[in-house]
Amino acid sequence: MGEIKRVICDCGFKKQRLYTWFGFHSDSENPKAVVVCRDCWKVGTSGYLKSAPTCAHCGSTNVDLAALPPGPERDEVLKRGSDRLVDYRGYLTCPRCKKRTLEVLHTGDWD
Ligand SMILES: [Zn+2]
Ligand SMILES: [Zn+2]
Repeated sequence: MGEIKRVICDCGFKKQRLYTWFGFHSDSENPKAVVVCRDCWKVGTSGYLKSAPTCAHCGSTNVDLAALPPGPERDEVLKRGSDRLVDYRGYLTCPRCKKRTLEVLHTGDWD
């Protein structure tokens, strides 16, 4: 099942409705995570297991990724099929204030 996230920052920046993980018609082997592009500073989502995370707006791979690094913790999350309990504070640079203070919050599910 997919998860809808939003991101917020202390500076007031926010973005709603980011569709992560996967739905019925997308690739369950390549879940999507929230990315912030460090070239065009757009916030979006990208797969990250099969290929390098990429900005959907400009194609850059110079992105911050809100996904767990490889290891037992990530395997556990993939098995569960959800990362809604993971705190990604510190993973993403805010497009407005350029600090690593962007927070990823779970707002709902999609399929
Ligand atoms: Zn970009
Ligand atoms: Zn900010």
